[in-house]
Amino acid sequence: MIVDLRSDTVTKPSAAMREAMANADVGDDVWGEDPTAKKLEERAADILGMEKALFVPSGTMANQIAVMLHARPGEEIVVARHAHLRLYETGGAAALAGAHLTEIGERGTYTPSELDAAIHPDDSHAPRTVAIAIENTHNRSGGRPWPLELRDAVVAHAARRGLRVHVDGARLWNAAVALGVPEHRLTAGADTVSACFSKGLGAPAGSVIAGSEAAMREAHRLRKRLGGGMRQVGVLCAAALFALDHHREGIAADHRRARELAAAIATMPGARIDPASVETNIVIWQAPDPAGVCARAAERGVRVAPFGPGGVRAVTHHDVDDVAIARAIEVLREVLAQV
Ligand SMILES: *Cc1c(COP(=O)(O)O)cnc(C)c1O
Repeated sequence: MIVDLRSDTVTKPSAAMREAMANADVGDDVWGEDPTAKKLEERAADILGMEKALFVPSGTMANQIAVMLHARPGEEIVVARHAHLRLYETGGAAALAGAHLTEIGERGTYTPSELDAAIHPDDSHAPRTVAIAIENTHNRSGGRPWPLELRDAVVAHAARRGLRVHVDGARLWNAAVALGVPEHRLTAGADTVSACFSKGLGAPAGSVIAGSEAAMREAHRLRKRLGGGMRQVGVLCAAALFALDHHREGIAADHRRARELAAAIATMPGARIDPASVETNIVIWQAPDPAGVCARAAERGVRVAPFGPGGVRAVTHHDVDDVAIARAIEVLREVLAQV
């Protein structure tokens, strides 16, 4: 038995999902002729509370299109410390949009006053601060969702200061479940949102960017420029639609399994974790020799990944059930006892 907890991106399409893909009605999506893509985009726009959505190959492309929509060269976007936009997108904001990112706050969030302090005065020496990004949930701090009141206060403050708002919602589905609200509640007041089908929802590929009709017309052009204009993309969109219909309800169980894993890890020798910090599907703990822990667990069929300085990460997802989590706990307990 292999239990792969390295990421929620490792899921494989089930037989039923593959059947939906095989039966998808398709056309040339660059010409706007793929009915399944249209159906998915309408559905996603509705769920995300936006006028329009555009299917793109990856969350990274969705985020980079958002940066290109919101910032011109030399302009600044404020993000939370350790933002995916800054750490894991190969410097795309600088390379593609010429924008620069300023990190503030702690544990994936920031306050209106921290935002206020980061906004540059209207002065010819300073870069123009044009937008903020809200990563919800925040990967690097263990899938932490933004507390609702804080989110609302920061979005309201951004509006007062004339800043655009992008929501990096790669795992917005997880945030919505953890907070007990519909996804569109987490995009209120935002100009754009990105969301992934390829993570907790278990589709093989694809993300959306959503926003106003006008913004998505421009996003369509930027997608083409970045090489993301795909043709009979309905085969992928069918998987995403299947995931929206059948896999969203499994996310609550992913979160429960992550909490069970965290509670067990907290009792293991050498591991340091605050189980209360696990609010969604990502479990990060500190351990001596993270690379060694990962290697020895992998030898026994449990795959986890080194993460940040001194950390190990395990992510629950659609392909990990209760039996798999029990096995992971057993193996990690033995491996950590040997460190
Ligand atoms: C995974 C992720 C992305 C990028 O998605 P890809 O599909 O891997 O390009 C963006 N933001 C966050 C927070 C992510 O976790």
